[in-house]
Amino acid sequence: AADDSRQSIRVFQPDMNQVVQERLRLENDLRDALRTNKLHMHYQPQVGSDPDTGLLGLEALTRWQHPELGNIPPAKFIPLAEESDLIDDIAFWTMDHACRQLAQWRSRGLPIPRVAVNLSAVNLQNPGLPGKVAAILSACKLQPCDLTLEITESAVLHPDQTIGINVSALHDLGILLSLDDFGTGYSSLGHLHHLPIQELKLDSSFISDLEHSTTAQILTRSILQLAENLGLHVVAEGVETEKQREFLQRQHCNALQGYLISRPLPPAELERWLARQD
Ligand code: C2E
Ligand code: CA
Ligand code: CA
Ligand code: CA
Repeated sequence: AADDSRQSIRVFQPDMNQVVQERLRLENDLRDALRTNKLHMHYQPQVGSDPDTGLLGLEALTRWQHPELGNIPPAKFIPLAEESDLIDDIAFWTMDHACRQLAQWRSRGLPIPRVAVNLSAVNLQNPGLPGKVAAILSACKLQPCDLTLEITESAVLHPDQTIGINVSALHDLGILLSLDDFGTGYSSLGHLHHLPIQELKLDSSFISDLEHSTTAQILTRSILQLAENLGLHVVAEGVETEKQREFLQRQHCNALQGYLISRPLPPAELERWLARQD
């Protein structure tokens, strides 16, 4: 038995080293990319479900084009950043970038109502967050109502003291707070009424099931109804088909985001998309 375990360790070790080394390499490369401004942003439009409403805002999504490994999706580098000390740098880099882009677009007369930036739960634990957000806004000469911060359920469901203070401070600044991936976690709308949240992003898993599952239809309908009664704005995520759009419009979902409207786009392509509207 002793021999067996030694052997299994010998067999296992090189792989583990590889995993750890790969991770360390990516972490260092990400640190480098941040320092040398090698990340970039894509922007995905959010439009009113009522076709007359038009563009309501853009979600800023961070992109990392690795010099050797190519595009690394956020689903890979965001968790890596969360587990190292890089996630705050990413949040501030992203916010700074998105706000400057919005200010630049506005100065050129492009009618973009607001921009939304994603925050990790870890970002909400930083006591410096509200001050930094206010500084970025004022450096770009933007108003708090120009910015939405998307936060996840897990962050606000079991808030520690700092998170509670930060969420209140951001709300008091006048920033719109949006609950991302709503419906995938454990929060019910009942949990949310005491939180200063003005918007829900209905997770794409509901939307993709709409055409085939009456349960998804019933759930979506009742979430939309409750949200409306509570005065919450709802953005449906991952809208890909005309049928989904029709259903959501009929049920008074406020806003739509997804490939049906547009994929997330680099700034120049977003400008071309905007020019094609109305
Ligand atoms: P998310 O916030 O839920 O963002 C929506 C994701 O769905 C994006 O993936 C977007 O490209 C994708 N998507 C949009 N419309 C459709 C559609 O119609 N169909 C399908 N199948 N997908 C659609 P992306 O850009 O890969 O981002 C993945 C996640 O990474 C985001 O999920 C967000 O949680 C996180 N993320 C991205 N950028 C940042 C960032 O700067 N900071 C933090 N903390 N997280 C970020
Ligand atoms: Ca989001
Ligand atoms: Ca989401
Ligand atoms: Ca998601």
